[in-house]
Amino acid sequence: MSFCSWGGEKYQNHFDAGIYVCSQCGHELFNSVSKFKHSSPWPAFTDTVHPDSVSKRPEGSHAYKVSCSKCDNGLGHEFLKDGPDGNSRFCIFSSALEFKKGKKEKKGDVKH
Ligand SMILES: [Zn+2]
Repeated sequence: MSFCSWGGEKYQNHFDAGIYVCSQCGHELFNSVSKFKHSSPWPAFTDTVHPDSVSKRPEGSHAYKVSCSKCDNGLGHEFLKDGPDGNSRFCIFSSALEFKKGKKEKKGDVKH
């Protein structure tokens, strides 16, 4: 599978302020303040907008399969303690996300 087929790089180096929502149902998933630069071609986040933004299924002992809690759209994976400062790294398909521009304020509080 090539990167092009699922749009892996679309939001890799995208750091505008706003919210990333589910491309299928518009559910708010990630805040741009949680996004960080990672060497992989997938957009990386340390956290979700709300703890219940995504549903998780264990995959191995250090990872979860992550999907939209509203429509079950497959988003990618959460790797425990693989992000900055011992945080999780959410490794998410660009194609599963839609970016909504907003004003960056504090975490979980983006004005549209
Ligand atoms: Zn969804």
